[in-house]
Amino acid sequence: MNGPSRADGFELLRSEMVERLRSHYHITDDRVLDIMNALPRQLFVPEALRSQSYRDNALPISAGQTISQPFIVARMTELLGLTGREKVLEIGSGTGYQTAVLASLAGHVYSIERIEGLYDDARRRLADLGLRNVTLRRGDGTKGWPAYAPYDAILVAAGGPEIPQPLVEQLAVGGRLVVPVGADKRSQVLMRVTRKDSGTVAEKCGACAFVPLVGEHGWSE
Ligand code: SAH
Repeated sequence: MNGPSRADGFELLRSEMVERLRSHYHITDDRVLDIMNALPRQLFVPEALRSQSYRDNALPISAGQTISQPFIVARMTELLGLTGREKVLEIGSGTGYQTAVLASLAGHVYSIERIEGLYDDARRRLADLGLRNVTLRRGDGTKGWPAYAPYDAILVAAGGPEIPQPLVEQLAVGGRLVVPVGADKRSQVLMRVTRKDSGTVAEKCGACAFVPLVGEHGWSE
């Protein structure tokens, strides 16, 4: 999506959300704040919950999944440090909202979703928004997407018991992987792994709560 968002009646709620991201959550990356102030988040939320689209929490979508809390979208995106040309891999497209944020800030986004209905809807929404630098696929994202590796940035939007090793291997040197990890299925620590010439550096970036990452290098179900 390019340029400012159309007048859609959500301008005030959107700018209040962004103000909260800035002053309460201390998000400082202006590119992240600007795109979240432009993207129509309500188009990614089930119709019955549209009035809640800009609230400070995750919301249920279909298949027992959730659209992530705006803060977590902003925080994970900020941690990736995107400047505009990166090749990004996303695991767990969900509604496609985070995908749209990434696509607006990077060169190209490859995104994998496990659940067919969510994949279909995300694909349609992103096409409707005119985002062409996105390639979606249905499948198990814990194995990564070797065909387009290495990636400058990888974002995992679901929580697994450990960092999926294939994703670390598909990072470019200097690349960043942001992933929630936890022994408990419903609570995790957000980790950032940076690939260096020799090995990797891992940082803990706070507590979080994601739906489970289900797959070969995640939970079994
Ligand atoms: N950020 C998204 C929400 C993602 S919810 C948004 O804002 O809409 C997490 C998503 O990860 C769910 O849609 C779930 O189906 C998906 N998921 C879980 N395990 C996965 C896997 N192994 N591969 C791909 N997608 C997976």
